[in-house]
Amino acid sequence: MNDYHLLVRLYGVRGSYPVTFANGTKYGGNTSCIMARTPSHVVIFDAGSGLIQAGKDLIPEILEYKKTSSEPFQITIMFTHTHIDHLMGLNFFTPVYMQGVHMNFIGPSTLGVDLEDILRTTCEPQYHPVSMDEFRSTKYFENVNENMIVYFLKDDPNPYIDTTGAPAPDGTELTIKNMKYYFHPKDGSYNYRIECAGKSLVYATDVEQYVESDQRLVKFAEKTDVLIHDSQYDLDQYKLFQGYGHSNYKMACDVAKRAKVKKLLLFHHDPNNNDEALEKIETEAKKLFANAQLAKEGWEFKV
Ligand SMILES: [Zn+2]
Ligand SMILES: [Zn+2]
Repeated sequence: MNDYHLLVRLYGVRGSYPVTFANGTKYGGNTSCIMARTPSHVVIFDAGSGLIQAGKDLIPEILEYKKTSSEPFQITIMFTHTHIDHLMGLNFFTPVYMQGVHMNFIGPSTLGVDLEDILRTTCEPQYHPVSMDEFRSTKYFENVNENMIVYFLKDDPNPYIDTTGAPAPDGTELTIKNMKYYFHPKDGSYNYRIECAGKSLVYATDVEQYVESDQRLVKFAEKTDVLIHDSQYDLDQYKLFQGYGHSNYKMACDVAKRAKVKKLLLFHHDPNNNDEALEKIETEAKKLFANAQLAKEGWEFKV
């Protein structure tokens, strides 16, 4: 028996590209990947290099499941956007090569190109030896949009996608809401809100808050238990990279304060920042928002 209703685990917390250098991996070297799961549903946010370990962790469960069920084991991956640091783990995610696995891919189209075409392109022979049609898993693709709420129900392995604004269907176990952030180059990124068992987490990466916070995000993240927010830079670095689509820790703290969140995880660490630089960011952030901490690979939230 599983001893949780919701388990969220961070598999990748680094921005831009993975790092392996000395003194730089106390908080993890992999790029964006978060798993949010219930005993019966597996939902992953972003397919950065952290996804590779997430896949390895799922294999024993998939093999066990297949012993007793002829139905496919379903995994849903939701993308904030498809920049390569949020995508690079997909072709090394072992479950996509397994028979009896069904993948639901939900994420934005970019500048008019459907999510399905973007993902298929990464497996074309110029980039990868195995095409998506050769993956043994079955696949479903859906472009996310701002009216969409994705529900996961107690007795249905399929995601239930609503765009009508109807009330949550009976048996809802896990709800994923979204908010589009428009200014991440060049076609924005999606923020997601995970709701389950009376708790919530908001995942807002690859966002830049400019001044006084994005009020839509403040509302979207209101009173959430955990806000996972882009915090790529310290204040000096930010001066060099303003407009690149990422926040500094102060911006993350401002949103956390305004939204009255319980905990803030500083996320999408700059690959140039080693452990010492990150810890300096955490110390400064705590002065602005006491319950701020660095996102770290392996961090878990369990209800
Ligand atoms: Zn990124
Ligand atoms: Zn990005």
